Amino acid sequence: MSASGVPDRLLEIMQCPACGGSLRDVGAPPSLVCTACGLRYPVTDGIPIMLVEKATPAGEGP
Ligand SMILES: [Zn+2]
Repeated sequence: MSASGVPDRLLEIMQCPACGGSLRDVGAPPSLVCTACGLRYPVTDGIPIMLVEKATPAGEGP
């Protein structure tokens, strides 16, 4: 299990819906951060919310 609660094998196959970049798992708060464009997608109960409109730009708080 990853820091965010997203299963590792799911994390491996997911891509950023905005740019297709790979995602990095972060645990506080649980979220997935795109390594390419920096958008941060929230994770709720281990389920990543992969919607650009729900994502937070790099460097901004929730
Ligand atoms: Zn991206």
